[in-house]
Amino acid sequence: MKRVALIGATGSIGRQALEILGAHSELELVAAASGSTPIEGLAPLTQTGGDLTGLLERAEPDVVLNAVVGFAGLPVTLWALERGVDLALANKESLVAAGELALAARERGGGRLLPVDSEHSAAFQCLEGRSPEQVDSLVLTASGGPFRGRTREELEDVTPEEALAHPTWSMGPKITIDSATLANKGLELIEAHFLFGLPYEQIEVVVHPTSVVHALARFRDGAALAHLGYPDMRVPISFALTYPDRAATPVAPLDLAGGLTLEFHAPDLETFPLLALAREAGERGGTYPCAYNAANEVAVAAFLEGRLPFLRIADAVEETLAAVDGAAARDLEDLVEADREARRLTEQRAAIA
Ligand code: NAD
Ligand code: MG
Repeated sequence: MKRVALIGATGSIGRQALEILGAHSELELVAAASGSTPIEGLAPLTQTGGDLTGLLERAEPDVVLNAVVGFAGLPVTLWALERGVDLALANKESLVAAGELALAARERGGGRLLPVDSEHSAAFQCLEGRSPEQVDSLVLTASGGPFRGRTREELEDVTPEEALAHPTWSMGPKITIDSATLANKGLELIEAHFLFGLPYEQIEVVVHPTSVVHALARFRDGAALAHLGYPDMRVPISFALTYPDRAATPVAPLDLAGGLTLEFHAPDLETFPLLALAREAGERGGTYPCAYNAANEVAVAAFLEGRLPFLRIADAVEETLAAVDGAAARDLEDLVEADREARRLTEQRAAIA
């Protein structure tokens, strides 16, 4: 039996995780939490909002699935890493914002960090058992989102409804907007840097509209290993929760003879500047990734509320990154302060946009 704590149980990832948990009697849901929707009865221990670390202490899980959206997921990530409890991580924002602090906590705790993000689950599988010097580079794929192929002029007046219509993945609203701006791939670039210890110049992003290849690793001998499958988050969720067993899922095996389009091209960094801004923030290091994430969260919320035009999301993030000092966080307090300052700066910009 594996004791599972599911944090963010009411979201897109959370609901799919419940389906996986329901299909495996060896996975026992011992605790569940949500941000605001009541969930009494879903698990022996439940909580809605507030400090979730007390719930985790009482639940004594073997694995925590962090499916919270945004920086709010940070305490859960740090709790699991610090204690050496396996962390199945969907909440990429916490790793992006707290990279070094999170890795130091994992070092002390000694537990596993299993990515749930589909590209990173794929990369984890391509890289597992390889030493870093064998790796030439890692490739993350991006669907390109609903606005792939459009020009900046064509994006000026897009509405939240249009941005929420993702072509290949059905996800929560924040990550769906991030997919439309390519900020999601920017966050994933930084996430991959921390997960796999690769320098940024060894991580490439390519657009791949059908989302069948999730990631690909190139090796020094000229070989490349790719991870393929239909876009369905139940696969990486199940992989992380049942690791290293790779349990069965209801997802159909890949049909090759029926026809499969594997097309790749370079991302349009001028139309979607948030990808290049993430690379720059990652390379600068310190609390720049934290500021990037915080600014993006605030700008996306403002866009969804109709307070900020689509193209101003990237402008707001760029302006915030130019205004913060980006100094490295010595501790959690520094990090929380960097997050707060970036939010304050971005709120000001969203208010005058
Ligand atoms: P969602 O908006 O559908 O769900 C978010 C969940 O977090 C909800 O259960 C909500 O109640 C909970 N939550 C929000 N604030 C909270 C707080 N302060 N404390 C506790 N719980 C809180 O989001 P989602 O699409 O399921 O995404 C969750 C995470 O997984 C995000 O980090 C996202 O980037 C990542 N992710 C999602 C997908 C996907 O297919 N949905 C794919 C890859 C990665
Ligand atoms: Mg992803």
